[in-house]
Amino acid sequence: MSEKIKMTTPLVELDGDEMTRILWGWIKELLLEPFIELKTEYYDLGLRERERTRDEVTRAAAEAIKHHGVGVKCANITPNSERMTEYGLSALYKSSNATIRAALDGTVFRAPIICKGITPYIPNWQKPITIARHAFGDLYKGTEFSIANEMRGAKVELVVTRPDGQTSSAVVNDFNIKGSETGIAQGIFNTDSSIESFARACMNFAIDTRQDLWFGVKDTISVTYDRRFRDIFEEVYQQSYRQQFEDLGIEYFYSLIDDIVARVIRSNGGFIWACRNYDGDVMSDMVATAFGSLAMMTSVLVSPQGQYEFEAAHGTVQRHYYQYLKGERTSTNSTATIFAWSGALRKRGELDGLPELVSFANRLEAATLATIEQGVMTGDLYALSGLQQKRKVDTRDFLLEVVKNLASGS
Ligand code: NAP
Ligand code: MG
Repeated sequence: MSEKIKMTTPLVELDGDEMTRILWGWIKELLLEPFIELKTEYYDLGLRERERTRDEVTRAAAEAIKHHGVGVKCANITPNSERMTEYGLSALYKSSNATIRAALDGTVFRAPIICKGITPYIPNWQKPITIARHAFGDLYKGTEFSIANEMRGAKVELVVTRPDGQTSSAVVNDFNIKGSETGIAQGIFNTDSSIESFARACMNFAIDTRQDLWFGVKDTISVTYDRRFRDIFEEVYQQSYRQQFEDLGIEYFYSLIDDIVARVIRSNGGFIWACRNYDGDVMSDMVATAFGSLAMMTSVLVSPQGQYEFEAAHGTVQRHYYQYLKGERTSTNSTATIFAWSGALRKRGELDGLPELVSFANRLEAATLATIEQGVMTGDLYALSGLQQKRKVDTRDFLLEVVKNLASGS
């Protein structure tokens, strides 16, 4: 074999949990290390290490991405109360993704990986739909109260204290009006600067990829909060992007979120759908599933300063991990995780002027798609594929088939 490809700047590597952690190791062993002198700065975001470091490791990883510019992340567990017991956690750590997104103030772009033989559930979706998810604020930085026990019957107010100390307040709900009620309350926020950088990121990406940009919020109901998103998008578009969009013949299109959802279903794809944080979280899973499999969705977080974090859009595939631990064959599809690595290596190659690394990333993607198009696939795709000749392989055998294609250059 010819000499391995060299890297100059380390890639920030964020390891994760469960089945995706197994995949991570195999991808490095079989697809990367034989071809590249892999240079990474490693952070273990597996739950045990997060517990050991009281989650300092996540914050350090986010800083490292800011410093080096490109990261690649394995899926990891967002703990809930069951995970707290399972891993003996001392705190319910926030989602690593939320911490990293907040640190980078980035926008997440998710696009399906399309290959021959896998037709979307919505047959008119002939081109990819890229979801741009605003990765800052709203629910993910929310503050919540359970109005129960000693809080029962409480009056919930929103108090805004100005820098000069003056306050304004509004009653959110008085839980005592109809007798001492129990319930829930939540406070959320966003910042004009983050919404503006979200709008700019979406418009830049639309220009880069020459696609229309669609955006919708619920500004008929949320006349201040959601309306602010609509107004900022409109201002940014009119002031900085309108001319470029018109020159390229692409469109910025705003409508109520309900109307956008209806139009997305009827569309042929081929546009960017800008979504607020929660909408993007939910709709990206819907779009990924409709295009075939969650394992066929790429995801990249782009900060306004041009830092990138690549990952697969799916989680740690817990059910498969328990099968793996029992020594059973698993059908975990590694495509999105491979594309996270190829995306990160390509970007590193572009930034560092390493054409061999860029070309390797392209060949790795081509070899992965060629494997599926040759009819060799994991169970999730086997169930969807319209190919006449197809063969179901397990997680590791799929990677071994990709290696064959990569080594032979097909
Ligand atoms: P998940 O890991 O995405 O898996 C849900 C189901 O989707 C799987 O059971 C499997 O279906 C299918 N699936 C997902 N990825 C697949 C792949 N690569 N190949 C084949 N099938 C795949 O979601 P989850 O089970 O809700 O979450 C598990 C853990 O992941 C949770 O602890 C959650 O916090 C975490 N999570 C992390 C991230 C992240 O780090 N980015 C994102 C989401 C969730 P079948 O079982 O039917 O085969
Ligand atoms: Mg989601």
